[in-house]
Amino acid sequence: MDRRVRVRFAPSPTGALHIGGVRTALYNYLFAKKHGGDFLIRIEDTDQNRYVPGAEEYIIEALKWVGIIADEGIGFGDGPHAPYRQSERKPIYLQYVTQLLDAGFAYYAFDTAEELDAMRERLKASNVDSKYDAITRMAMKNSLTLPEDEVKRRLDAGEPYVVRIKLPKKEDVKFHDEIRGWVNINTAQMDDKVLFKSDGMPTYHLANVVDDYLMNISHVIRGEEWLPSAPLHVLLYRYLGWEEVMPKFAHLPLLLKPEGNGKLSKRDGDRLGFPVFPLEWKDPATGEVCSGYRESGYLPEAVMNLLAFLGWNPGTTQEIFSREELVQAFTLDRVSKSGAKFDQNKAKWFNQQYVRHTPDNVLAESLKKDVLAHNLNFSDEYITKVCGLIKEKISFIKELWEIAVYFFVEPTTYDEAVIAKRWNDKSSLVLEDLIQLVRSNEAFDATLFEASYIEALSKNEVSNKDFLQLLRVCLSGVAGGPPIFEMAALLGKEVTIARLQYALSNINKP
Ligand code: GLU
Repeated sequence: MDRRVRVRFAPSPTGALHIGGVRTALYNYLFAKKHGGDFLIRIEDTDQNRYVPGAEEYIIEALKWVGIIADEGIGFGDGPHAPYRQSERKPIYLQYVTQLLDAGFAYYAFDTAEELDAMRERLKASNVDSKYDAITRMAMKNSLTLPEDEVKRRLDAGEPYVVRIKLPKKEDVKFHDEIRGWVNINTAQMDDKVLFKSDGMPTYHLANVVDDYLMNISHVIRGEEWLPSAPLHVLLYRYLGWEEVMPKFAHLPLLLKPEGNGKLSKRDGDRLGFPVFPLEWKDPATGEVCSGYRESGYLPEAVMNLLAFLGWNPGTTQEIFSREELVQAFTLDRVSKSGAKFDQNKAKWFNQQYVRHTPDNVLAESLKKDVLAHNLNFSDEYITKVCGLIKEKISFIKELWEIAVYFFVEPTTYDEAVIAKRWNDKSSLVLEDLIQLVRSNEAFDATLFEASYIEALSKNEVSNKDFLQLLRVCLSGVAGGPPIFEMAALLGKEVTIARLQYALSNINKP
């Protein structure tokens, strides 16, 4: 039977969402759209100690900015499974923890923090893994070791407790991961995780399984850090009698530091100067501000594209994918098992490609703001043409003004290295002739300017190779830029003549 695809992104609001988290959301989104299914957002806030104000809003804003739009859930409108915030679902979980307790798959534990620490110390001293498991639990204070009436007395007296899963001592738990294939873990390596606390709140493990079941989740696509928890979840499905409808699992590879040695962290971003968060984030506790892709000038479409490629590839050489193309091309079997190294140059490259494909008039809106901010007055048409000429030269839209400034402001300084290398006794003569020729022509465009330039060169027996860069510096002050004759054509005949003349008298000749 083919099941309707339903996937979820289930972040905990414990801080800003790392781009690894955005990638997880993206893969879920692409998978859902590819299969005509549903993608939902669930907020996993059962650990109130780790709750960070503003984090939930940040996560939703970040997803929307990148263009990851959910069908139901927090931030995107309630669907049939509301509420989608686990703290608001608190009354739901008691029934399932009771079911596990009654069936003997879970037990009450009353150990204090000090008693747990003492147990860990004891085990560490004898070089044993410090786990609360089938062996150690028999020496602890729980409903497996205490007399029944004492357990009842403690519960009636309102003593704090937790409910732990009762794992078998030694049993293989085998499940199929859509990316990694068969995974086999023995319960001897696992511990009796806490499922529920006496304040009535479930822990992540129980809430996650119950909600995935109730929300009809067909595939759990999440980060590799959850792989060790998957066998526990498999057992919970089994113990709750839901194995038949257990979702398929897909654990995504880690995002690695550019050097490949470990998980990409906030510190790598600070160290190497690139953002690891989608949006700027101000930590409410420390006031620390972390840079974001949005504020750094990345286009959301570029971020979607570059994130898609961190751990997935289409199996072809195509790298630029629209959202629709990604939906079409995305499959879990092309997600890699090994970690994906973050490459900041590649990230920039993606943005550059999207800037190049942004229509000139859209770029012009941004450049116009800078032009106005400098109290300059140019037509929209002129600003748009400037954008068309220089967009190949930038990686970020905010670089437009810096690169294009000479289209709006006369240069008064000239690249000294070029002058030192290229200026010679013939240079003034070429410039004078060029000014003369341009003036004598009624019309002015790129082709005519080039023709005049070639004529001025040949008259003075100067080669293009020796003079072209000098001509550029005379017109713009700087050594690099767009095709030079088109640049002059856009500046116009009068400005071109004026700039050549100014350069002639103001360049500090070597
Ligand atoms: N709440 C978990 C997190 O913050 C979600 C893990 C999962 O998707 O099962 O990453």
